[in-house]
Amino acid sequence: MRFETRAIHVGEEPNLKEGGYGDVAMPIHVASTYARKEVDKPTAGYEYSRTDNPTRNALEKRLAALEDARFGLAFASGLAAETSIFLALLQSDDHVIAFDDLYGGSRRLFSRVFAENFRIEVSYVDARHLSAIEQAIQDNTRMIWLETPTNPLMKLCDIQAIAQLAHERNLIVVVDNTFASPYFQQPLKLGADIVVHSTTKYLNGHSDSVGGAIMLSDERMYEKIKFVQNAAGAILSPFDSFLVLRGTKTLAVRMRQHEHNALAIAHFLEKHPRVKRVYYPGLESHPQHDLARRQMTGFGGMLSFELDGDLSRAKKFVESLRYFAVAESLGGVESLIELPALMTHASVPKEEREKIGLTDGLIRISVGIENTEDLLEDLTAAFKLVF
Ligand SMILES: *Cc1c(COP(=O)(O)O)cnc(C)c1O
Repeated sequence: MRFETRAIHVGEEPNLKEGGYGDVAMPIHVASTYARKEVDKPTAGYEYSRTDNPTRNALEKRLAALEDARFGLAFASGLAAETSIFLALLQSDDHVIAFDDLYGGSRRLFSRVFAENFRIEVSYVDARHLSAIEQAIQDNTRMIWLETPTNPLMKLCDIQAIAQLAHERNLIVVVDNTFASPYFQQPLKLGADIVVHSTTKYLNGHSDSVGGAIMLSDERMYEKIKFVQNAAGAILSPFDSFLVLRGTKTLAVRMRQHEHNALAIAHFLEKHPRVKRVYYPGLESHPQHDLARRQMTGFGGMLSFELDGDLSRAKKFVESLRYFAVAESLGGVESLIELPALMTHASVPKEEREKIGLTDGLIRISVGIENTEDLLEDLTAAFKLVF
């Protein structure tokens, strides 16, 4: 089965055996517990829904299929999935190397919870350079945590090269694949050991569910994470599992339109005299465009750009749009726009922000799947109003 077919059929084969109803869509199984005929063994294989639930299990099969992995696990949020990886695979006094441009919530979790409370040391390095990772490796390093492309500056790192380096030293490579989605990037094929997702974003794709996922093929690591999923209990609910199952069916067509619109907007912005810079891996001007072509099959729906103006201009610009809702998050069918300086990255001190390129005029767009011309007209009107 190819990607689009797996995304529709795996995990949701109609049950035509005796007693089955032949549902073409997986029912939402709400039961918390399951009755048994004999005391000492569960009759239908299910005991308690924290451990296993038919709707969640269907999604977990689907998630595995999307990344061509042997195993999938669904969690209550992307950060719950990340937490479960730390709890399952790391101990106090272990060391983790992470990309210095991680999703802010991941960095907060690593630094404020695992470093501060559990003595897991985390070094943040510029993972665009292999040498930066190599230099950060210590005797107690266990894991390398990557995100590519990053948010909002769309930096990439070379998964294959990093995985090769890591495996020479027995280190686990985790890739947060939320931005690209498995439709455009498959880290396991490039040598990563574990893929993590916020299903809140593209996998669900409709901005109406918060969830997380882990996909991997190593059985030993899977058993450890599955144990923590049940032991710590940060599971995805049956209803959210249904929503994500439903969302994944259209992932391929949505991603194609996200990318189509993002490319059109990136080209439009690149030519606009009131735009200083556009960050989108699909543009030839992106410093890592060649790497993007090599390790991704498409460039996704996220981009950012620097307006030729101050914070008040940027604010007026985003507030004047008709179809782009001013909101955090990303990956839904509707276009969203935000100012990192005031919203997603407001907690980063201004000097630090400016140093890495997160200027006051920086605007991030999660490009939706609306009509391309409508989006371009909306942006054109906003430029006219602001300048
Ligand atoms: C949103 C996001 C997360 C966190 O996921 P939640 O579902 O919000 O917990 C992690 N990584 C990336 C790249 C994200 O965009």
